Amino acid sequence: MPQQVQGVIAPGKNEPVRVETITVPDPGPGEAVVRVQACGVCHTDLHYKQGGINDEFPFLLGHEAAGVVESVGDGVTDVAPGDFVILNWRAVCGRCRACLRGRPWYCFDTHNARQRMTLTASGTELSPALGIGAFAEKTLVAAGQCTKVDPAVSPAVAGLLGCGVMAGIGAAVNTGGVGRGDTVAVIGCGGVGDAAVVGAHLAGAAKIIAVDIDDRKLETARSMGATHTVNSRSADPVEAIRELTGGFGADVVIEAVGRPETYRQAFYARDLAGTVVLVGVPTPDMKLELPLLDVFGRGGALKSSWYGDCLPSRDFPMLIDLHQQGRIDLGAFVTETIGIGDVEAAFARMHEGDVLRSVVLL
Ligand SMILES: [Zn+2]
Ligand SMILES: [Zn+2]
Repeated sequence: MPQQVQGVIAPGKNEPVRVETITVPDPGPGEAVVRVQACGVCHTDLHYKQGGINDEFPFLLGHEAAGVVESVGDGVTDVAPGDFVILNWRAVCGRCRACLRGRPWYCFDTHNARQRMTLTASGTELSPALGIGAFAEKTLVAAGQCTKVDPAVSPAVAGLLGCGVMAGIGAAVNTGGVGRGDTVAVIGCGGVGDAAVVGAHLAGAAKIIAVDIDDRKLETARSMGATHTVNSRSADPVEAIRELTGGFGADVVIEAVGRPETYRQAFYARDLAGTVVLVGVPTPDMKLELPLLDVFGRGGALKSSWYGDCLPSRDFPMLIDLHQQGRIDLGAFVTETIGIGDVEAAFARMHEGDVLRSVVLL
């Protein structure tokens, strides 16, 4: 039987979000219904509300979530009712060229649930944020979007791996290939940038230089493992990073802002043959201009990191294990827990830079 639950809806461009009753269908073949326990508030949810992603309103927001599988449709074998899972945006297909070449983290044909959830009052179909829609008591996803992890971890902590924290750790570890003894700089110290700091620390980086324009964020980055901080409002970050690395520049620079000016800083703040990783998400109007001779002459690699180039089935359980062993502290990303009616206020606090993550408990 389809179920009626409460969910947070973005009804139209820049309109305040509100809690509405939504209808969640029974899972069809390859689908699962998940009872959501916690879901983090991410910048991407705000971008949906602002119409910055697409205009397929109304959206069912929320996508950094953990919960318990309630029911599964035909043909689902990887997860079962009662499993504690982290949701991911990208159920890999296993059949596309990337998957068949053994690189499923690049899967070109990821999928979400086929059926749509609807507004109960009007029957209007909802667009779930990143194919998840987890600011809701229950949500319908493709079963491949569920990754089973150890239920001993709190849902508020586990859910954050579903998006920003994974993107940041993966940008350092998977895309950047940070290794023992490397020097690393991270430009932009929100949730994703701080997670990149954690990833660089985990990988054994010798120096981790955090760059931001907000001293409070730099303090947080230091508590996450940054060895040096640079306020780029008061100092030239390129000069400062070179100075801190013996005049060379960093081996890996992670750009977690997604703007041409910070990308240029990242480009010039790395050592010759170093790596730039772009994990910050730009907007469609942005253009990058660089002297092509510098692109050639400085060598190295300019890479982009989608979702930290993660493979959820490989990376989520591993990072949960490391958290439980005390080798990373995912709990440090949870600034506050809030109720389902508090998402609009959480957007305002996020915009002010007051929180790393607000997490809705359901
Ligand atoms: Zn997100
Ligand atoms: Zn694929």
